[in-house]
Amino acid sequence: MEEQRRKELEETLIGWAVEALGRWTGMSSPPASLPDRSAQWLSHYGRILSRDWHPDGRGERLLSILSLVKPPKVEAVQQVFVPARPLSLETILPDDDRQTSATDLWQAFVGEFGRLPEGEGRFETFIHLFRKYAWSVPCTYGEAGVSLYDEFKALAALMYASGGTEAPAEEFLLVGGDIPGIQDFVYTITSKGAAKGLRGRSFFLQLLGDAVVRALRRELGRLPETNVIYAAGGNFMLLVPAGSEAVLEEWQAGFNRSLLKEFEGDLYLALAWETLPSSVVGTSEFAAARERLGARVAAAKSRRFVEVVQRDGWSALFRPQGKGGLDYCHICQREPRPGEKLVAETTEAGEEVRKCGLCRSFEALARDIAYDPLWMVVAAADDAARQDSGWPRLLARLTGFAYRFEHDPPRVEDGEAAYIFNHTDLESVHGFRFLANVTPRIGAADRRWVQEHYPDLVVPPGERIKDFGLMARQSEGIQRVGVLRMDVDNLGLIFGRYLRGSMAQTSALSAALELFFAGHLNRICRDVAAQGEHDNSIYVIYAGGDDLFVVGSWDRMPILAERIRGDFAAYTGHNPHLTLSGGVTLEERKFPLYRAAERAGEAEGKAKQYTRDGCEKDAFCFLGQVVAWGEEWELLRETERSFSSLVDAGVPRSLLRVAQILHTQFIDTRRRALKAEREAGQEPTLRRLYWGRWVWMAAYSLTRLARGCPKEQKEEILKIQREWIEPGKRIHFLGLAARWAEYKLRGGEK
Ligand SMILES: [Zn+2]
Repeated sequence: MEEQRRKELEETLIGWAVEALGRWTGMSSPPASLPDRSAQWLSHYGRILSRDWHPDGRGERLLSILSLVKPPKVEAVQQVFVPARPLSLETILPDDDRQTSATDLWQAFVGEFGRLPEGEGRFETFIHLFRKYAWSVPCTYGEAGVSLYDEFKALAALMYASGGTEAPAEEFLLVGGDIPGIQDFVYTITSKGAAKGLRGRSFFLQLLGDAVVRALRRELGRLPETNVIYAAGGNFMLLVPAGSEAVLEEWQAGFNRSLLKEFEGDLYLALAWETLPSSVVGTSEFAAARERLGARVAAAKSRRFVEVVQRDGWSALFRPQGKGGLDYCHICQREPRPGEKLVAETTEAGEEVRKCGLCRSFEALARDIAYDPLWMVVAAADDAARQDSGWPRLLARLTGFAYRFEHDPPRVEDGEAAYIFNHTDLESVHGFRFLANVTPRIGAADRRWVQEHYPDLVVPPGERIKDFGLMARQSEGIQRVGVLRMDVDNLGLIFGRYLRGSMAQTSALSAALELFFAGHLNRICRDVAAQGEHDNSIYVIYAGGDDLFVVGSWDRMPILAERIRGDFAAYTGHNPHLTLSGGVTLEERKFPLYRAAERAGEAEGKAKQYTRDGCEKDAFCFLGQVVAWGEEWELLRETERSFSSLVDAGVPRSLLRVAQILHTQFIDTRRRALKAEREAGQEPTLRRLYWGRWVWMAAYSLTRLARGCPKEQKEEILKIQREWIEPGKRIHFLGLAARWAEYKLRGGEK
């Protein structure tokens, strides 16, 4: 695109957007406006979004895109509207009544608009500024769930992908990318001092995704960020000009060749594309194109490096043989490269660990990003960046971009782009990003605590991330680390059947999920950690897109999962078709990470298989047992609390043993009864009570326990006794509640 055309395009889009926001807020004299000569031009593109589109439309209020998610032929869910306010992680929940008046919204926007940089970077910064103020304002043409920002983004994407021509292109290319390999790359490392580098490794993959998108935008004619329909972690979708196939093929082959050389096959970019006729952009047929693209990306994943082999022959895949030496990095288990020296370090556990340069640089990255506020500066990589060491050198060589992180507002040179994380204040930056980066750094309070409780434990000085050993020791009760995995149920159905959205709706839904998992999750983690004895006991290993992986002191994990689920329900307006399932497993201080990741994944899988009373999923697996969120979870929590408070008040701990034994007997009785019912051809039901020896045992043991207790506790025990043998769900969670309470009470056990 010629420079002159690019300028006109930017002026047109900015002018229209500013006017549209002014119109919605009811304010006049906007600081920019749509040039008259451009109205026709823009309308051609607007009509791709909707036949009724016209430049001066105005919406009423923004229906949350999350309210549109429901299976076809099912009653509409309760509608939730997004309160008009600037985008901020202070609050993203719709039931929070902090609302900004239209006047204030407009004046704040105009103030920041006046401070936009001139020249290069102006349009990119405007994209972020407009997102901040128009994300909660409805679009001008009445498409449900689409904000004025989403509309602006779609218009800009279409215009750039058409090369800015007067008439829009008749077709585009939808590009999908994925960098699989998080399992191989992040979790297969050993657990020796692994906590330090874990977030660095997983974040490096996110950075790689960011840099790939940036490189593709550059290669395909300097496309702005509006052409990124979504990007979360290593997974992305772009709208690019038709006819870009050759450039994409060439770039992918070169990139994967470099990846193969650097990572010996552990990481791979699966890239695929699909022709997108302009006629489907604004309709639900877009979902079909998205599905075809998804199938192509999946196929590309199963043919790893085929494009490299086609060009370089099979020999490209033969890994360089190690020298078979005894020296290898204790973290990634790779032999040092020629000329590379491993560095020996001593962990808190007193083990000597030898580390390669790359693993050490991932540890530095994990420390670097554990800050709030945090800035990222990106520039085209020069020779110095390519000669750098560790991850910055890798990223520069692979993508041509140099990344760095700062903890104070950065001084930005020409050609650099700066971003702030988790804040939307655009002062001296080009944009903002959301990143789940809650990281437990060892503080003065931790050092005092270690000295007091574990005087033999050496915590080396300097800036350190808390290791799993200390997280386990600082748990309440039994010393374990909790590993939590959680994600949105039925994601494929949500995008494929429940929404079947247009391009703008798809982009809006992805952004809404990303805002929760990459952004709001930070607040949840900090709040839940702060309620514990140590306020830095939670470590986000990865969160974004629609899922999360968090490690921390075990006692915080069920509380964290409960809060995530509660906030997600509030965020979606309690939409019953948007639910989360997850699982927590408990690990001893030294555990193989890949096993822990697997076990937590299995627990999550069990929760997703849970069916009851015509419902499925929307459940949580804890200590090996699955509990549905809602009524079942409340019962469990209530029972656990009553156990804990009874034991705290002096009732013998044998209460917890009795509860577990009774539960086991109940399960046995029930299993036998269910078998008999099945054989007799009857429908089994969870709510029925199965009488057996356990009922008399319960009556006997609890009466005996109550006998020695003061009046108040005696009544509580007798209440429990009555509730246990009543038909109901409580008995099912008795054993789990007792085990939970017991773990919390097992003080100081190793
Ligand atoms: Zn290594």
